[in-house]
Amino acid sequence: MIAPLPAPLASWSEAPRVRPLNAEAVRADGRYVLCWLQQALRANDNPVIDAAIRLGNALGLPVLVYQGVREDYPYASDRLHGFMLAAGRDLARDCAARGIACVQHVDRAGMREKGLVYRLAADSAAVLVEDQPTFVARWQSERVAARADRAVLAVNAACLVPPAVLGDGIGSTSAFRRRHEPLRAEWQHATAEVPAVARYDGSLPFLPDDLGAMSDADLDALVAAADIDHSVPPSPLFVGGRTGALEGLQRLVGAVLPSYAGTRNDATRPKGASMLSPYLHFGVIGPREVMDAVDAAKAPAACKDKFADELLSWREWFHYRARTLAAPERYDRIAGWARETLEAHAGDRRWDGETLADILHGTTQDETFNACQRQFLIDGWMHNNLRMYWGKRIIAMTADPEAAWAVACYLNDRLSLDGRDPSTYGNIASSFDGGAPARDEAPVYGKVATRSDGSTRHRPNGPQWLHEAANRPAPTPTVPDEVPTERYLVGS
Ligand SMILES: Cc1cc2nc3c(=O)[nH]c(=O)nc-3n(C[C@H](O)[C@H](O)[C@H](O)COP(=O)(O)OP(=O)(O)OC[C@H]3O[C@@H](n4cnc5c(N)ncnc54)[C@H](O)[C@@H]3O)c2cc1C
Repeated sequence: MIAPLPAPLASWSEAPRVRPLNAEAVRADGRYVLCWLQQALRANDNPVIDAAIRLGNALGLPVLVYQGVREDYPYASDRLHGFMLAAGRDLARDCAARGIACVQHVDRAGMREKGLVYRLAADSAAVLVEDQPTFVARWQSERVAARADRAVLAVNAACLVPPAVLGDGIGSTSAFRRRHEPLRAEWQHATAEVPAVARYDGSLPFLPDDLGAMSDADLDALVAAADIDHSVPPSPLFVGGRTGALEGLQRLVGAVLPSYAGTRNDATRPKGASMLSPYLHFGVIGPREVMDAVDAAKAPAACKDKFADELLSWREWFHYRARTLAAPERYDRIAGWARETLEAHAGDRRWDGETLADILHGTTQDETFNACQRQFLIDGWMHNNLRMYWGKRIIAMTADPEAAWAVACYLNDRLSLDGRDPSTYGNIASSFDGGAPARDEAPVYGKVATRSDGSTRHRPNGPQWLHEAANRPAPTPTVPDEVPTERYLVGS
């Protein structure tokens, strides 16, 4: 049984974003409303915080924002840890500016804490979490909601239009667009931020880390002291935190958007794509803020429309889809016809002799694949136009389609700053089952459409660009004995 929405949230204009996760009531004896952020790492225009303040104000209680960074989430590495801690530092500073207490803890040698969220929840009136449909943020929220003896409420912070207002049963991207587009203007207007009644300065069950006061060197030291994968280094391309997100937004409206409709699909152009996906994945910036800037920008309508289609139609479609699946990270989400035809060709001869190390390190016999993979290895991001080629090539480089799914998710999740996202699994699934079944059967792929590298190689400078991209000096992350199983990935 699930509890009804508490009255202060039921009457909120953003109520469709909020979903009770358990049957427990709000506890009047709580000392604060706990706002536990795993991925929506921003202090402003954050519906999770706004919902917490609204509930706290109605109860006469302060809000306590909590971010904990553990060492044992899948793929924890210098790259992901560093990006999250930089976002966390700005979260702390911007919460302080809003008059909200934000407490943080980073597990590391000699400073490990167990069950912090449960300990903090024990003194709360209610726990607000973000409503993420994939990966750790989903599994952990569900786990905490099942064990907590007070209300746990999930708030959608990732989408412009809350998926709940779209209704059930949308089965295609065209139907999604028809339902989604008319609702955008209404949801783009942020509700005014209300001040919190008070700042929590009471006792805590642990000694927090003061991320807000830390220098870059301090953050680096935290990452170095954590027991995580140190073989995946930070991306030199993506500056963490709000500085990076806002620079990215400036770059989008100033340099990218004016020609976006024509250049977005050209991987050889350094300013063709927005490169905002890492910031969107970690919620350092939200789609509302991005669309406000896009609307205000000087750019042709066709370019703004194209961008809105990527950010709002495609991204929010995959969020919507993931919500309908018990485990969006699992191979069985791929359409039955595609699994059938791929499995029928599982015995076909594969691309010669590629090992997991070759695939991971971008040292295969396929120059274009290596160019793609080295973007993941070095930059922690890959251009959109390369990703479909990359996903489909993995099908031919691995023993069978299920192994291909596991390897593609593994590489994307471990290396890409925007991995582990509803868009990760939705798009990898599309590289297996996107489009209609082909009439003719191809080796290995069966009726699944194949993809050439022509959209990059046939550009004027394409061959040279691919050659250089495939030979960029890249880090060589450790090679596992085998890629993680789905049981591990879906957190069961
Ligand atoms: C095999 C494969 C794997 C992918 N894995 C991821 C992933 O792990 N995380 C991720 O965010 N995207 C993923 N994508 C989608 C897309 O490639 C990236 O969102 C995009 O390349 C990010 O670069 P950008 O920010 O410059 O995007 P732009 O091309 O400038 O687009 C703007 C924004 O729109 C959204 N967007 C664009 N294309 C898509 C799409 N196809 N699906 C969903 N949202 C989209 C993103 O939020 C992006 O930041 C994948 C695509 C494929 C084919």
